[in-house]
Amino acid sequence: MSHLKKALYLSKLMKQQWLTPSEIQEIQNKKIRNIIKHAYTNIPFYRQKFKAAGISPDDIRTVDDLIKVPITTKEELKTNFPDNIVAKGVDLNKCWLPHTSGSTGIPLTIAYGQNDEDYQKAVALRPNLSCGQKIRDKWAVFTSPSHIVQKKWFQKLNIFAPQFISLFDEVDSQINSLESINPNIVDGYSSSIYLLARRLKETENENINPNIIFTTSELLTDNIRNYIESFFDLKVFDQFGCVELGRTAWECNEHCGYHIDADSIVMEFLNDGEQVSAGETGNIVYTGLYNYSMPLIRYSVGDVGIPSDETCNCGRGLPMMKVIEGRADAYMQVPDGRVFSPITWTILMRDIPGVGQYKAIQEKKDLIKVVLVKSDEFSDDTVNQVIANVKNTMGHDITVLVSIVDEIPREKSGKLKSAISHVNINW
Ligand SMILES: [Zn+2]
Repeated sequence: MSHLKKALYLSKLMKQQWLTPSEIQEIQNKKIRNIIKHAYTNIPFYRQKFKAAGISPDDIRTVDDLIKVPITTKEELKTNFPDNIVAKGVDLNKCWLPHTSGSTGIPLTIAYGQNDEDYQKAVALRPNLSCGQKIRDKWAVFTSPSHIVQKKWFQKLNIFAPQFISLFDEVDSQINSLESINPNIVDGYSSSIYLLARRLKETENENINPNIIFTTSELLTDNIRNYIESFFDLKVFDQFGCVELGRTAWECNEHCGYHIDADSIVMEFLNDGEQVSAGETGNIVYTGLYNYSMPLIRYSVGDVGIPSDETCNCGRGLPMMKVIEGRADAYMQVPDGRVFSPITWTILMRDIPGVGQYKAIQEKKDLIKVVLVKSDEFSDDTVNQVIANVKNTMGHDITVLVSIVDEIPREKSGKLKSAISHVNINW
């Protein structure tokens, strides 16, 4: 039953993406009314929130009305799970329960019922199909080992069946696995695929020849994108999303921005509680339109992005956004008030001889630790140059501590972050 449902959802989603923007907005508004009504009726957390704000479901008719609903924070999701935030009648034992790693300090669990999960998997497949993936393609997916035991999509029918490669395996062992899979499609974190490409180049291995590469979940810097694209001689399709809501935006063949899955989620971009204009950076606030087991309404996820008013040449009606700057916790605000995006670190570090990998950790507003893995050109001067570059760019009142390590540990989720701040930012 479930496979059939997924297939039906998928076929509807594939058609819906070609509707006009106003037709998609109509679908979105209708789904907003339904999920708001459901949340108010069946979930104590939202009913209390609405009452405290003096609003009722009838006040929320369209996407523009959402601004009346107070923001939902990670702390609220955590403290209200499960009793106050999971819908009445949902059996958690029958739910899929993805959880976040707590890279922002607050690990969370989200509940998806079977139907919600089927829909999410269909949304996740839409970009892949739209970008040329065929049902029986050999599809290698880099993922953290904890994901490998999950149910595989369409597994029984042996179509869209990903073959998993552990992120935590040594790159040579990943290459062995890939050689035996011989994939057409390689899918995973950009840092893993980048490290793979580097190793293949280093060892002059030409055995891995995918015709499509999907990257996801991390900031894809121009350097990393260019390296992967030139090594494999193709254009990467980058995708955007989060654990809490799944995939929410993606690049089509035009590669001119990311299409937002606006028929399935609402993405707002806020600064100081107000919507930003097209082209400006905003904090992303999501409203999920299909998870009825645990609705997320105006949920502040901690990511930032840029809304766009451009239309894409491909002709899809799904609205566009730009993804350039990664997670909000990769931003650093320094004592004089300036905020630096994670790309700053790529630029600061790239020309310093002797820096292999690195990770910058802002411990206090005026204290940044830089953890380095040496490359062959390392000398004492490397450390001095790191300190000088950081101070010259970010401020001389900052203390910079550099330490050398053998390896930069990944986050629990498997992501490799090059910048992280433990200091909250006044946006
Ligand atoms: Zn497009």
